[in-house]
Amino acid sequence: MSNESLANLLREERRFAPPAGLAASANVSGAAYAAASGDRLAFWAEQARRLSWAVEPTETLDWSRAPFARWFADGTLNVAYNCVDRHVEAGHGERVAIHFEGEPGDGRSITYAELKDEVSRAANALLALGVGKGDRVAVYLPMIPEAVVAMLACARIGATHSVVFGGFSADAVASRIQDADAKLVITADGGWRRGKPSALKPAIDEALERCPGVERVLVVRRTGQDVAFTEGRDVWWHELVEQQSAEHAPVAHEAEHPLFILYTSGTTGKPKGILHTSGGYLTQAAYTHHAVFDLKPETDVYWCTADIGWVTGHSYIVYGPLANGATQVIYEGTPDTPHQGRFWEIVQKYGVSILYTAPTAIRTFMKWGDDIPAKFDLSSLRVLGSVGEPINPEAWVWYREHIGGSRCPIVDTWWQTETGAIMISPLPGVTETKPGSAQRPLPGIAATVVDDEAREVPNGAGGYLVLTEPWPSMLRTVWGDDQRYLDTYWSRFEGRYFAGDGAKKDEDGDIWLLGRVDDVMLVSGHNISTTEVESALVGHPAVAEAAVVGAADATTGQAIVAFVILRGTATDRGEALVEDLRAHVGRTLGPIAKPKRVLVVNELPKTRSGKIMRRLLRDVAENREIGDVTTLADSSVMNLIQAQLPSAS
Ligand code: ATP
Ligand code: MG
Repeated sequence: MSNESLANLLREERRFAPPAGLAASANVSGAAYAAASGDRLAFWAEQARRLSWAVEPTETLDWSRAPFARWFADGTLNVAYNCVDRHVEAGHGERVAIHFEGEPGDGRSITYAELKDEVSRAANALLALGVGKGDRVAVYLPMIPEAVVAMLACARIGATHSVVFGGFSADAVASRIQDADAKLVITADGGWRRGKPSALKPAIDEALERCPGVERVLVVRRTGQDVAFTEGRDVWWHELVEQQSAEHAPVAHEAEHPLFILYTSGTTGKPKGILHTSGGYLTQAAYTHHAVFDLKPETDVYWCTADIGWVTGHSYIVYGPLANGATQVIYEGTPDTPHQGRFWEIVQKYGVSILYTAPTAIRTFMKWGDDIPAKFDLSSLRVLGSVGEPINPEAWVWYREHIGGSRCPIVDTWWQTETGAIMISPLPGVTETKPGSAQRPLPGIAATVVDDEAREVPNGAGGYLVLTEPWPSMLRTVWGDDQRYLDTYWSRFEGRYFAGDGAKKDEDGDIWLLGRVDDVMLVSGHNISTTEVESALVGHPAVAEAAVVGAADATTGQAIVAFVILRGTATDRGEALVEDLRAHVGRTLGPIAKPKRVLVVNELPKTRSGKIMRRLLRDVAENREIGDVTTLADSSVMNLIQAQLPSAS
């Protein structure tokens, strides 16, 4: 950003008080903010007591080598024991940990006692394969219970896992395996996707031609499809794991022992191996899951729809919920298989009470139509969450009304792979929510918005989101590259963590995320947020999804070009609609934000985690050759978009 701070254009006046019943019995009350701001470190030391430590830490934070943090460094614990065994020891062995719903409709429910046996067997199997503490293990699996078991088995023996999303190509897997120098790969024959078995093992076979450090491959049989087997290297999970003893005594590891490496999705630049460690990470994952979702482990059924390959799957499927003894749903497949009501059928079937999903999914459901969720009984729901991108106010309101029955609070949770856990979010029993705003740093977290010169902006102004104090689940470094850690996150503003996101503070001081700094548009000297223009477009009844970019323009520097997907109900799709949309944005945000061009398309380019890749749309808008499309979920989308557009203008 340059010239001036991010403009503050969008006005959103709707407010929603927390439901009285929920507020009365919420896990966390408003008093937590004051308690935590009084003595932040004492607050986190107290949260660390949610965990069972083998050796209780006496030191909370060592910041003497800032920005390299050490939390609870003299404590020791076993992360898997915390997520599994201790619940069994506390008498909750019969509680369901995982309701697994396979895409073809198969499934099973796994209790905490069964999970303990399964994780112990897998831990013994890893040891039998020669994996030990400190070794790296790559995990490339579909969304099946074995993915959770594999991660916990690694944690149990102190091996560091690196989960690679099952949709990534052999190239992407190979570079991640090489970077982490993994010794073992855990994969499957395939997983079910859109009604068909989708192979995984061939990508591993191809990747391993370039990964001589990998000694063994452990293969789960999920789909039963044919796979090539390399003698001496490959071994079936059901043969090796099932024959192991269900007894495995967990040993304690240091709080700062590396728990996992997770590569950021690569929306921007070469993937970075984000390193997370044990005690601080688990403390914040557990606390935030308890506070933000108001989890009541005895009665709630929780469902996070993320993939285990993303950080959301790590912190809010595996570590947070299991540390808290939650009962959760894990679903293998896509939301439209075999029909577009699959998610709502699952909510109804298991009585899901807490649902955590992404704006991209919500906008897709809006596009499919209100009548689909209306066919199912969603009355079990009580808290709804959103993560991954800014949620447009109109999508937020739709989610509240059509999924939440106008009674469930929505928690819009801002965080990153790097932060490890939720940082900015409403609390469901405390916050009067505002559609589109993540609002306030959680108790114990310090964040603000600054301008180019690192000055905190006043309420009502925009700039860069920064985190001003270290937090327990912060990344410890970029794997093998301390310098990149310093350069990427700590060099833009002295002593502050630079998140790379634009944000503004409203008149109450609440935070609104405005998209990535790299995507901000500069029009006639004004910095304009992609998020605000997209939200204005999604606020029009004909629009389901929108992506805007700034394209080079001779007069204004950049001109706003909008790509929109229309709702199923939109009848007019021609020039008149385009004019109407431009006028609508002008009325909502002011003339400066009016798109110069509006292009109606059927698809938008998205990463595999569902985020819009604006850089590719910028290529289209500027009539350039399309850049690297390897991280796209569907690389044919760009051809489709180009074919649909009026030829170069
Ligand atoms: P890469 O860093 O490789 O480009 P990524 O940033 O998409 O990938 P993640 O760590 O999964 O990978 O996503 C974090 C980013 O997602 C945040 O920096 C922010 O841009 C966006 N984000 C996540 N949650 C929210 C939210 N609730 N509101 C606004 N933006 C969000
Ligand atoms: Mg990022």
